[in-house]
Parts: sequence; structure tokens; C-alpha cells
Amino acid sequence: MKRPVSSQDPRRIPEQLRRKYDVRGPRYTSYPPANHFGPVDEQELLRRWRARNELADDPGLSLYLHIPFCRRRCLFCGCHTFVAKNAGQAGRYVSALIAEMKLAAGIIDPARPLRQIALGGGTPNFLEAGELDRLLRALHDTWAVQADAEKSVEINPRTATEEKLEVFLEHGFNRFSLGIQDFDPEVLRAVRRDQGLMEVEEVVSHLRGRGVDLLNFDLIYGLPGQELAGCLATADKVIELRPTRIALYSYAHVPWIHGHQRALEKLGLPGAEAKAEIFLALMDRFLAAGYLPIGMDHFALPEDSLARALQAGTLRRNFMGYTTGRGLDLLACGASAISAVGSTYAQDEKPLPAYLEGVEAGRLPVFRGFLLDRDDEIRRELLLELFCNFRLDLRALGQRFDIDATAYLAGDIERLDPLVRDGLVEIHDETIHVTDIGRFFIRNICMTFDRYLETDGGKRVYSRTI
Ligand code: SF4
Repeated sequence: MKRPVSSQDPRRIPEQLRRKYDVRGPRYTSYPPANHFGPVDEQELLRRWRARNELADDPGLSLYLHIPFCRRRCLFCGCHTFVAKNAGQAGRYVSALIAEMKLAAGIIDPARPLRQIALGGGTPNFLEAGELDRLLRALHDTWAVQADAEKSVEINPRTATEEKLEVFLEHGFNRFSLGIQDFDPEVLRAVRRDQGLMEVEEVVSHLRGRGVDLLNFDLIYGLPGQELAGCLATADKVIELRPTRIALYSYAHVPWIHGHQRALEKLGLPGAEAKAEIFLALMDRFLAAGYLPIGMDHFALPEDSLARALQAGTLRRNFMGYTTGRGLDLLACGASAISAVGSTYAQDEKPLPAYLEGVEAGRLPVFRGFLLDRDDEIRRELLLELFCNFRLDLRALGQRFDIDATAYLAGDIERLDPLVRDGLVEIHDETIHVTDIGRFFIRNICMTFDRYLETDGGKRVYSRTI
């Protein structure tokens, strides 16, 4: 696999490019981005969901359950979560999740093959072991979970216990994603996340002892107090513990959405240049340790399914970041969760009371969404190609949608000219190639094809691209 630009590379990202392209832009975990979601025609939404039951060649389902509770809020958090004093408060929520799955199974045929399960949050392991067991039993009773399904869960090591881990193992969970963020206790303290290395090591050794090979570590860069040397020390500890997959997320500072993030401004946030330096240096470490680069911010060992999905062209990007299983319909249950079924997006109510009351009244608690038209579907597909594979074969896109893609996208391709001149993309043989340097600016490249961007009117809705 081609090695992308690295910090030792003479083609290192020129400063003027970093300055020029450090703008606000979507992360494209959906297209259009979620800020364009609005009221949807529910009849049409459900008609499109039902139509997927009739597919002759059903790709199957992916199910996401959102557990929006945490013991304490980390100051950098951009997730939809609530601080709950004790796990007992979550019992009603678990019942609502079970009820929502059953409501959805009245529309989406529960006999469709369920190929992926993911629990995220918040903190799924905030729930007591008994509640987790109740939830997972109901899940398996409701859906046709395939024997080889990938079952993953996000674990906050701080609230992990052997009892809770055992529940996941008993229900066949085979991938555990640990929220590490950074191993430097000073950095963690500053962002109000008091987690020590021993806790992570204990969780890793317990899971390995129980035969779990598939571990993800989530890291974040761009936090106050993070310096290159400390981040490299974190990278070395990560490499020592050898997860099969690493996500290295850029901290997204959006205090107008998440007010608690404002506290980080007083501590001093690193600028674009410092962030780029940290990212490139960590990438070097991971690549030298045998990890392969996946998309814009993931790394995986060659045997990990994410690396295999990249080779097979089945890599996908959605609200969980990069995942496997392109083409699967994503049903997401829980407050704020976003489903992506066929040509639809549907987001559940965000406030807990509205979510609970909706489900308890026997309705799907969808409060907004989006029904894609054909142009949206074409652009969604091309953005997925660029984000996942860093290239876009216009002929293949044209065949898929029965269009002359070069002619259809002529205006967009023309708008790429300045990015071609800056060396971020190359176009030849009806294929758009993202260059090594361009990978770093993939969000800016994709913005060229986003027909909704101009309607954002320069509002501060997105985080910075670097
Ligand atoms: S544990 Fe995760 S979801 Fe909860 S507040 Fe911290 S970052 Fe957010």
C-alpha cells in the first residue's frame, strides 16, 4: 500500500497550504451533513424503509444502539450524552431502546440479516451488568443476528468492570473499542478525564485473556497541553499494547454547539500548525510499527477487517467514523441516533424526555431527517469514494448511476482547478486522484462537490478542517 506523506517527507505540507485550507467544513459522516436535516414526510420515509425489505439482493443491516450516559463530562466531548449520577437512572431508557427496536422491526423486516452490531455513546458500560444483559437479550430476540456478525462496543476503561465485560463476551461481542484519548495524566486531568494507564492495561489483558483479538483504541489530538513529545509517548504505549485498529481524531472545537468546550479556550488550544505536526509525527510512528493508513484518521494492522475492507472496496464512512460493511442499511436507536436506510436519514429526538415520551407513546421518535434525491445519492457515493479510497473513478460512478459522470460533474471538476494547482488533486484518465498531501485536506476537497455548502451562508456550523 502506498505510504502517505509523513513528517520526515521532503514534500511535507507547506505552511501556506495549511493556512489557506484551515477553514470550517463538514466531516462528511453523512451527505448532506446533519445540519441540513429537517422535518421529513414520515409516510415517504417509512415507504422507503419498507421498500428495502423487497430487495432481491439484500446487503443486510447494521444496528447501532446509543447509550447517552456518562459519569462525568469530559471537556472536549462532542457526543450527545448526559451526566447521570447512577446507573439506576438508565433502566427506563433501556426499556425505551428495546421498545424502539420492536417498533422498527414492524417496518424493517426483522428477518433481514443483521451483520453488524455496535453499541456507542456516551458510555455503554455505564449501564449495570443486568441492564446490559436485558438489552442484549432483547436485541438478539428481535433481529436475525448472523453467526459471523461483527459485534462491537465502545468501552470507557474508567467504568469497566469484569462483570460488565463478561456480559458483552457472553453475547458474542468480538470487538472492543477503548476510549484512550491520551496516556498523559496531566492532559487527561486538564480535560476532566481522570483515567490511568493501569486501567487500560487491565481491560486489555482481561479481554485478551478471554480470547478477544480485535481491539480499537481511540485517540484525540489538538487538546490543551498536548505537545509533540507527550503525544509520541502516548503513541509508543499504544503500539506496545498493539490494538488492531487506531482512530486518531482531530479535536473538533465547536463551543457554540457544546458550551462546555469553552473551558478549553482558557487552557490554550494548539493551532493548525501544531496539530498538523502532531498528526504527522504520530502517523509516522504507527506506519513504522506496521499499521496501514485508513482514510483520513484511522490506522489498522493488515489483518484487521478495516484494512481488508479498504482492499476490497467495502470501506464505509458513517456517524461512527470509518467502518466496514458499505451498503448495509444502518438502523440506529436511541436519543439523537441517526439511521441511514437506503436513500434516507432519520434522527431520533435528542432530549431524553422527548425521546422517552415518543417511544412510550408507541411512535418512532424521529424528529428530523432527510430524503435524498438522485443528485444527493450520486454525490454521497462520490464523497464516500474520495473519503475512503482517495480516488474517484468517474467512469465507474457513471456506470453505477447510468450517467456521463464527467459531463454531469463538469462544473464541480472545474472548481477543483485551484486544488489541482496547489497539488492536492490530480485528474487523469477520467479519475480524480487525491495526492499524498491532498489526503490531509480531504475535507476541503470534498467540499468542492457539496451542493449544500453555499446555503450554510458562512455560518459557524462546522469545526475547522485542520
Ligand atoms: S466518556 Fe466519552 S461520551 Fe462521555 S463525556 Fe467523555 S468523551 Fe463524552
